[in-house]
Formats: sequence, structure tokens, C-alpha cells
Amino acid sequence: MRIADYPFTQQAADHVRAAGYSLEDLLEKPSFRIFRTRAADRVRGAIDGDISDVRAQSESELLSELLSYPLARIMVSCLDDSHLLRRYALAEAKLAHRRMEREKADLILLAEDLNLHPQPAGDLFRLHFSEYIVAGHRMKSPKWKLVNRDLDRGFLTVTRDELVRLMEELVRDRVLSGLPLEVDSETCSRLDEILTPLRRDLEAMRSWHQTDLGRVEEGAFPPCIRSMLADVAAGKNLAHSARFALTSFLLRIGMSSQDVVALFSSSPDFDPERTGYQVEHIAGSSGTRYKPPSCSTMKTYGNCPGEDQLCARINHPLNYYQRRVRSISRKES
Ligand code: SF4
Repeated sequence: MRIADYPFTQQAADHVRAAGYSLEDLLEKPSFRIFRTRAADRVRGAIDGDISDVRAQSESELLSELLSYPLARIMVSCLDDSHLLRRYALAEAKLAHRRMEREKADLILLAEDLNLHPQPAGDLFRLHFSEYIVAGHRMKSPKWKLVNRDLDRGFLTVTRDELVRLMEELVRDRVLSGLPLEVDSETCSRLDEILTPLRRDLEAMRSWHQTDLGRVEEGAFPPCIRSMLADVAAGKNLAHSARFALTSFLLRIGMSSQDVVALFSSSPDFDPERTGYQVEHIAGSSGTRYKPPSCSTMKTYGNCPGEDQLCARINHPLNYYQRRVRSISRKES
């Protein structure tokens, strides 16, 4: 396990402390600019909903993953927005989840750092129910309910995927604990150059959530969605995965179910009743509101037509859309 992938751990904090970098170094040293940039990247990821997953290889990249974390904590504290703090904790936890999913090393040490003590049992892990409750208290679907788990002398079993999911929840709590830090205004003002654009993005996110959710900005659609819309307009049938991606995307950005159904009316196999049912289902009629697939899933299904410059910097079509909407509204104001 590389601690740089898990900078919220006690081990990582000890490592940073032992390295003896001063706050002065982190804030001002020209050669530390890459760490400040990555820290800003983490905060921007929290605003957009997704921190990019840097697969650090070189010494400086590994150090950057480690040092950018405490710096990002300082930055989100300076930005002083409780909603952002929660988004930040969630985005760090999601990043950790992706890394844990592909982790080749044993997860036990990491779990223990998070105060979870799983015991390997073949392909499964035994967990004490009290730790399970602490980690899983936010999980509401029936499969996580304690009554749906077999208890054996205070222990229950979870799969590796479930363990990773529980650990993600604990990472979220770990990241959020202690935030906001008590950062003096002088420290914040020394980060002004980095914080100013982040403040703008944060403001844009707030106004987007408050007022623009129902407004669809076609000019901000990512290439994948534009290509699917062009196919629909040309009367081509979309593959199931593309139809799902397009529908879930349009619903998420605020288009009504009726408008989405009407959009498919030029498809050769259009059946208003069936399409209506499918769209309502994706919109959440059965209790689950489906999220559009990520860029990597879009690529897997052949639904990504190729990347433009912005595509190279995001990993979800919704992030693409949010960023474009923000830059359009900046130009308009
Ligand atoms: S990279 Fe993502 S947003 Fe861009 S076209 Fe591909 S799937 Fe769409």
C-alpha cells in the first residue's frame, strides 16, 4: 500500500510531519507550486464532484499526493462553506474508493488505520457488528441493514467490495473531522491567487444548483451527448447503453421526463408507452434515480466519440457540462 494514495491516514500524517516541511514552504516556496496546484485540483474536484485520480509514479508525484492533501484542507477551510466541506470529504472518499478497488496490497492495514478490524475469512471478511454499524450507518438500502446479515457471535461477513464501501464511509468521516481548520486570515490571503478562481467556481456552483437546474444549456453538452443527439435527430436507433446514458444525463441536468420522451419520438422504433416507462424508470419511479455513466464506462461501451481538450481534464460527462455552463455564465455576466 502506498501511503501517498491515502493521504488522510495517520501514517501519511506522521510521514508529512517527520519530513519537517513548514507551512511557509507549502504556501510560498516556488518549487512547491506543483503541490499547491494539485491541492487546488483536489478542491476544484470537490466543487465539480470528482477529484482526478492521479496515478503517481515519480517521487515528486508521490510527494505531491501527500502534501496536497493538508494544503487542500487549508484551502477548503479558507473558502469557508459548509456545503463545500461535505462535498470535499465525499470527493476524497470517492477517490480513495477507486484506489482501494484496484489496490493489490492487503487492505487490513488501511482498515485498521480507519479503526476497522476486519478478519480475513477465505474470500470474505469477518467484522464485529459494532464496527459495521459505525461504518455503515449512512447506508440505507436493505442489503446493509443489520437484520439482513447473518450474525455469528457478534460477527458478520462482508465481501471485499462491501469492505471497500464501508471503508469509503470511514474515509469520509476522517476527512471531515477537524474541518474547517482554524486558519488565520493572513494564511488565507497568501493563497489568494489560487483561492480567487476557486471562489468563482464555488459561486458558480451555488448559483447553478439554486437557479439553473431546470435550464438546459445545449451549448455546454459534451461531445458524447452531442453525438447521441445528432444520431437521434438523424432518426438512428441508439444502442441500449447509449440510450440510457443520454436519458440519465438529460434528466440529471433538469430536462423533464416528457421532453426526454419527445426527443426520442424521431427514433425508428419509437414506442411512446415503452419509452415513457423507461424514462420514468431512469428518472426514479422505482425508487432509484439513475446517474449517467462515467467517461470510463462510456468508453467501455463505445459511447465516447473521442476527447476534446476539456474531456481530457474530467472523468464524467456531468463535470464537462457543469464546467461549460460555468464558463458560459461567466462570459454572459
Ligand atoms: S470523455 Fe467523457 S465527456 Fe468527453 S466525450 Fe467522452 S464520455 Fe463524453
